[in-house]
Amino acid sequence: MTDCLFCKMVSGEIEPAVVYENEEVLAFRDLNPQAPTHVLVIPKRHISTINDLQQGDAELIGKLYLGAQKVAEQEGIHGAERGYRTVMNCSAEAGQTVFHLHLHLLGGRPMGWPPG
Ligand code: AMP
Ligand code: ZN
Repeated sequence: MTDCLFCKMVSGEIEPAVVYENEEVLAFRDLNPQAPTHVLVIPKRHISTINDLQQGDAELIGKLYLGAQKVAEQEGIHGAERGYRTVMNCSAEAGQTVFHLHLHLLGGRPMGWPPG
């Protein structure tokens, strides 16, 4: 999608602070971090929201989590004593503002529950 902010990051038109990348997944630091580690893990292929997922996307979603796991390891927050939160907002009421699927990886501080 030419008009999508995160597709522009995949194409290189915009250069985010990349922390991990493989063939299908890109992970970069959030511009407005909500925790010491706040990374967005995105599929390189454009999918707008969770509602748009198809059966054939199941493996790709698993790969987003494996990407998050790798980044958590890199950031030193993967140990049992540490921890992190992954969040995927879907549509307006959940607070989704960028309509290219992304998994937030948040960590480096204690997390409250319930979320806001
Ligand atoms: P969401 O509200 O779940 O759609 O998350 C979108 C996230 O993208 C927010 O946390 C924003 O801070 C982040 N964001 C927006 N623009 C950029 C950008 N240019 N580079 C990195 N992160 C961004
Ligand atoms: Zn996109």
